[in-house]
Amino acid sequence: MSRIASVLIPMPLPEAFDYAEPEGMDLALGDQVAVPLGPRLIRGVVTDLRDAMGGNRPLKPVAEKLDEPRLPPRTVEFIQWAARYSVDAPGQPLAIALRGARAPRPRPVRVVRLTGVEPARPTPARLRVVDAAAAAAPMGPTDLAHAAGVSSGVVKALVDEGVLTVELQAPDDRFAPPDLGRHGAELNASQAAAAQALKAMVAEGGYGVALLDGVTGSGKTEVYLECAAAVLAGDPEAQVLILLPEIALTQAVIARVADRFGAEPGEWHSDVSPPMRRRVWEGVAAGQCRIVVGARSALFLPFRKLALIVVDEEHDGSFKQEDGFIYHARDLAVARGKIEDAAVVLASATPSLETLRNAEIGRYRWLKLSARHGIARLPEIDLIDLRESPPEPGRWLSPPLVEAMRETRERGEQTLLFLNRRGYAPLVLCRACGERMTAPDTDSWLVEHRYTGRLVCHLTGFSMLKPAACPHCGAKDSLVSIGPGVERVEEEARGLFPDARIAVFSSDTVFDAREARRMIETMAAGEIDILVATQAAAKGHNFPNLTLVGVVDADLGLRGGDLRAAERTYQLLAQATGRAGRKDRPGRALLQTYAPEHAVMQALKAQDRDAFVAAEMAEREMAGLPPFGRLAAVIASGPDAGQLDAFLRTMAQAAPNSPGVAVYGPADAPLGLIRGRRRKRFLVRADRGVDLSAYMAAWRARVRPPGQIRIAIDIDPYSFL
Ligand code: ADP
Repeated sequence: MSRIASVLIPMPLPEAFDYAEPEGMDLALGDQVAVPLGPRLIRGVVTDLRDAMGGNRPLKPVAEKLDEPRLPPRTVEFIQWAARYSVDAPGQPLAIALRGARAPRPRPVRVVRLTGVEPARPTPARLRVVDAAAAAAPMGPTDLAHAAGVSSGVVKALVDEGVLTVELQAPDDRFAPPDLGRHGAELNASQAAAAQALKAMVAEGGYGVALLDGVTGSGKTEVYLECAAAVLAGDPEAQVLILLPEIALTQAVIARVADRFGAEPGEWHSDVSPPMRRRVWEGVAAGQCRIVVGARSALFLPFRKLALIVVDEEHDGSFKQEDGFIYHARDLAVARGKIEDAAVVLASATPSLETLRNAEIGRYRWLKLSARHGIARLPEIDLIDLRESPPEPGRWLSPPLVEAMRETRERGEQTLLFLNRRGYAPLVLCRACGERMTAPDTDSWLVEHRYTGRLVCHLTGFSMLKPAACPHCGAKDSLVSIGPGVERVEEEARGLFPDARIAVFSSDTVFDAREARRMIETMAAGEIDILVATQAAAKGHNFPNLTLVGVVDADLGLRGGDLRAAERTYQLLAQATGRAGRKDRPGRALLQTYAPEHAVMQALKAQDRDAFVAAEMAEREMAGLPPFGRLAAVIASGPDAGQLDAFLRTMAQAAPNSPGVAVYGPADAPLGLIRGRRRKRFLVRADRGVDLSAYMAAWRARVRPPGQIRIAIDIDPYSFL
């Protein structure tokens, strides 16, 4: 009997389409195929196969089964689950999952080999090249010149002379297997106990989640790498995925994995080149790449036998993808673990309230590392009350912080100044007319960047040269920069310490993985005296000579005022201050604040996470907010305010009545205008037991927005803008 194949296409379409399976094609679930869609042939994935019943309408046939790796059935299941959970088209997560499959393959590389011909003129440089070429596997001309310590001209001359020949070689796309004979660090007692518990969970087999909860520097990475080693050793096919919230952090962990297992892991994030993505994707699909270290989208790779997922810094907001397909990688990691029957380890020094709650009620195992490893101690944390010790006018570093920086420098140690604001100044306004510079069609201030001389909208990427006169009133030289960004703090630090080596670490100065790795190494080697950094550098790294962390504006994150503002501020500042002091050097952290009495500041000073968490939990429970209730948001946007309002009135009326669910809105979004589109929001609160995804899907199905209006559903929103 002939069969029908449902084929999911990586586009935002509501469902998979049915095609006829041609005689003899012999399709299987997960196969990549080409199917006709309108006038085009397009790549898709088989998500269902069933026998055709008589009387079906005739279907177009599948055009071709592609000679490409099959997606494992569990990957397909995960993609469908993720779409249902996020109330989005399944083609959206599929598009993420196929990103590596559609990238070009690595191209052949040029290598040089010895031909056996002796150099006519055997100078020392030429002989070094010959020796280097004989000693190692064939390499490219530049690498050979480098290995021999000669200029590339010497290699070229030897090629011209026929001593060396250049050949094209297919790149080696295999991943070296991890060396499981290697040992990690000797674990201390509390680390060994945690590692033992994780190994026991893995040995039980099947799905299980553990929270690895330990202060910064307590050795969580050592512990989960130990668990990874056990997983890899226990099953020659098992694969491990380590997720990190930032590209900069992937670099540090990749180096540690390489060190621990003597082999580079697969690296996966937006900055990996397309051919390298293809290599990782295929290595993972073949089961040959056994360890992947990556950012959130690595979760959609086609693992053959995923046995362990680690989500490091699990509390981090960067795990939430806010546009396109909206998802939280930590939550989806747990779901994927369940589908794959895998162990999931969530690691953090400041776990999210959601995860802590799951640990409290016993849904997750809770493993604690109580102290820093060895003799390293947590830094002392002090608050600087900016009302009592203000910086000089136009400056941002208070006298006590400057004094501490001076002492640190005299001891030959490093300072990190943390300010979570890119650029030079977050606001530019006209002294003459008071106009605030905003982007042309977006409700957001333009941020001044001095390195480039531009005003930039961080939301849309719009930028313009800083004008000489106010565009509003025409006054000349009237534009003033208000408030500090990292560039401005750097300027101030240079003025104070002209001889110091000062660098800025933000996404503007460190724009790719290689640069991040270089900056981290330079800092770790002690070659920077003062690092001014946004959150890009404030998390996870170990800098042995860093003993002072100054938080320039501790109150910054509290001003947003959304439900997680206090939690997020606590986490970020605990992470940032946790960079101070490692090994035998005690550290110190100074927080500049106008609100030293605020519960977050007091908890940070006392280093009393438990008290802070207990107070936060009580407030959330009273309000029925996560983790005690569930939230979803609808973000609607359109070019015409009247049309948007009219549609949202209909949408509000269409909200299903359901016990335990309350719908609020529509209300103006705080960011009311982006790229010329008006924005409005609904917020939905539901009791814990409600299937909120199903509710939102039912609501969504009841409305038909006009063509120009877009609706996005955000399950468990982290941004309320
Ligand atoms: P965390 O992930 O909790 O921040 P790390 O695993 O990065 O902690 O450990 C912090 C530092 O202490 C690292 O430099 C690490 O190599 C070192 N360290 C941790 N545990 C040990 C150990 N058992 N033996 C030697 N060094 C250790």
